[in-house]
This record gives sequence, structure tokens and C-alpha cells, in this order.
Amino acid sequence: MARLWNGGMRSTGRGSGVKAQDYAEVISGLSGYYSAEGVLTALGNLVSLEDPFRVLIATVLSQRTRDDVTERAEKALFVRYRDARSLARAHIRDLEYIIRGVGFYRTKARAIREIARLVLEKHNGKVPRNIDALLSLPHVGRKTANCVLVFGFGEPAIPVDTHVHRISNRIGWVRTRTPEETEMALSSTLPRKYWLDLNELFVLHGQHICRPVSPRCSICPVARYCRWNKCHR
Ligand code: SF4
Repeated sequence: MARLWNGGMRSTGRGSGVKAQDYAEVISGLSGYYSAEGVLTALGNLVSLEDPFRVLIATVLSQRTRDDVTERAEKALFVRYRDARSLARAHIRDLEYIIRGVGFYRTKARAIREIARLVLEKHNGKVPRNIDALLSLPHVGRKTANCVLVFGFGEPAIPVDTHVHRISNRIGWVRTRTPEETEMALSSTLPRKYWLDLNELFVLHGQHICRPVSPRCSICPVARYCRWNKCHR
């Protein structure tokens, strides 16, 4: 976990006017706050295992699913199927039963078995370490591929989900309409040394304080750097 914690014209972050010091203050402010709280996301909990395959499967399970549900399903799945080889031979009905709590579990059961088969047959049983190969796997989009790079390999990348997209816009780092635009904008403005930490910190912040509806700005540790807070006082 150490590597995560130490460390019209709307589609671009260029010219956002954010100072380098503000990036540093927000990242260290959130890092200090959530370290003290002792909370991690479902993916953050997997970092210490250094197992990109588990991160890949957990990220697929996490799509449109709460973190606690993802964690339960992921743990149950890997108790029964320890690796890509065993998962590739699994019966779909069994997979569906084990992961039945997650959203779209029937589709995901088929996807994760197919991912396991492709990892075995096309990549010698190892999850590929580059984004294009990851994107060629079923049910793997940019967010999932970038999550595998960050949480599975410790490679700097910017996975953008709804929390990262929302908070990056609220705080004033980007002015974008879609997660894809946010990834592009952050890639061109956010110093690379913060990329590994960003997803974990913004997802935690989105789950606990900067919620989609009624953000708890009065207790936010980075409120002084936030454009939304300044506009809504
Ligand atoms: S001040 Fe409010 S809107 Fe801004 S980051 Fe904090 S919780 Fe979110």
C-alpha cells in the first residue's frame, strides 16, 4: 500500500490555472485524512497482494457495484478459483452463484471466464502490462485497464470513474463532460507523481465526503482549494 500513499473548450485541463502547490496540498490533505481514518477502497485493499489478475477481475466485478459487495464477491471467487487456469475451466452457473450480489452478475460471470481463458491462451497466463492489450480483453474499458496498471502493477495511470470525474470538476482541476475527457485533461495537467494516488484518494473522498448529492463541504479537508466550495458559500 505504501506506493499509493507516499508518495466547447471544456474538454481540456489546459489553462485551468491550478497552481502546482494546490495539487500537492490536495493530494497530501486527502492522503493524511484517509490514512488517519484507516479506510481503503476494494482495489486499495488488493494492492498488497501484488496480483494483477485479482485486480483485473475485481475491477470488472466492481462496475456498477458497491465496494463492500465487490470485496465479498472477489474474496469468495478467489477462495474457490485461485488463478486464471482454474477460473478458465469454471462452470458459468457456479460463477454466477458466487458473484450473484454484484450488478450484471450473469454477464460478468461469462466475461471473467473469457478473460481468464484469454490471459492463459494469449498472454501465457500473465495479465498484460500495457493498455492496448488490456483494452482488447472483454469488459475492459479505459477505467478498468488503468486500474490494473495502477493497483496491479504500480504503473502511473489515471483511472477515471464517476468519483474522479465529479471531484476533478468540482474542485476545479478540469472542466469536462465525460470521464474520458477528464482522463485526457488530467493527463496533460496533473503532475505524474500524483497519478498513482489520485484514484484511491478521490474514490474514498467521493464515497465518504464529496458525495454526488449533498457533498459534506463543512468537514472537507481540502475545501479551501475547491472551486465548488468557493462558489457555494
Ligand atoms: S469542498 Fe465540497 S465540493 Fe469541494 S471537494 Fe470538498 S466536499 Fe467536494
